[in-house]
Amino acid sequence: MPFSGAETRTARDSGLFAALFEHALDGVLIANDDRKYVDANPAACDLIGRPRDQILGHGIEEFFDLEQDEPVPEAWDAFQREGAQFGTCRVRRPDGIVRYAGFRARANFLPGLHLSILRDITDKIETRNALDAKNRELEAANLQLARSNAELMHFAYAVGHDLKAPLRSVASFAQLLSKRLDGADGEIQEFVTYIVDGVRRMNTFLEDMLAYSQAAHHADTVRRIAADVVLQWAVMNLRSAIDQAVAEVTHDPLPEIMADQGHMAQLFQNLIGNALKYRSAAPPRIHVSATPGEGEWTFSVQDNGIGIAPDQHERIFGLFKRLHGPDVPGTGLGLALCKRIVENHGGRIWVESAVDRGSKFCFTIPA
Ligand code: ADP
Repeated sequence: MPFSGAETRTARDSGLFAALFEHALDGVLIANDDRKYVDANPAACDLIGRPRDQILGHGIEEFFDLEQDEPVPEAWDAFQREGAQFGTCRVRRPDGIVRYAGFRARANFLPGLHLSILRDITDKIETRNALDAKNRELEAANLQLARSNAELMHFAYAVGHDLKAPLRSVASFAQLLSKRLDGADGEIQEFVTYIVDGVRRMNTFLEDMLAYSQAAHHADTVRRIAADVVLQWAVMNLRSAIDQAVAEVTHDPLPEIMADQGHMAQLFQNLIGNALKYRSAAPPRIHVSATPGEGEWTFSVQDNGIGIAPDQHERIFGLFKRLHGPDVPGTGLGLALCKRIVENHGGRIWVESAVDRGSKFCFTIPA
């Protein structure tokens, strides 16, 4: 369909329009009622990758694909009805170079003439596409990681569970042996003691590992619980250690929270248990409190124990990270478990401490 020179002249009548048209950095295209171009400025020719004479008289659909894959004729009808349109499109260039444009169009800006302004947004779209691809990759990697993690936890649980029975046999036979050997060679008795001690340690390790691998599942067991009741449970479980250390455990009024009761009790038990284990020469004084914050409660378990050097504050929450040798019993799993429990509840855990200044373990639980 030939384009009409008269239409173009009408559009260019104004000198200001002509100057803007020629020098604009954005592409300007003018189409007639038949969806054929009747004018194109240099920036539009550059974007489409063709000289003017290969654009004028040609239809819109020869050069652009709308991003939503909407057929041009339907989009055009909507444009005519609504009087304006904006969106993004992919430019079809003869050299095969991919270009994207953002456009704004006005129908009948002069009778029978329709104006579109186009801006090259190729960089933006390519960055967005690259980011989308990266995000998809990340999501897939995260999913894979979560799966491997779940499998690993399941494996740890199965190993822990299956090792407990043979370990119980070793413990009972070692004890039997010890009874039979009553009065026998002191050295043999000593060896048996080592076996029993080794079995006891291994059992503690398996218990901790089982607790750690089980701490992953709690979503369906979260409910409103009274933190002071849970704290009492933990204190009850630690009663003999508390009495032995002549320790005093006190607390402020504690709130009700949405949490897994068993895991919260385990959390308090580990923190108070550590406060007893890492005590200084003074009788242990342990105080539990909770302060409200924005959308969360911050709990703290403060002790007057040996304290922790600041450069170890993060490290101690890692798996198997201990600051003590085998002379102090422990597996290095206690604080890792605390961290896991708190993070599963959507909270954070940290310690404020210095050597010989006691420690204050803090954790948050969303309100
Ligand atoms: P462990 O089985 O060794 O007690 P944890 O994960 O519970 O393992 O703790 C990691 C390390 O953090 C401990 O080995 C100890 O050195 C240090 N720690 C934990 N709690 C306290 C505390 N209340 N006071 C001083 N040190 C502590």
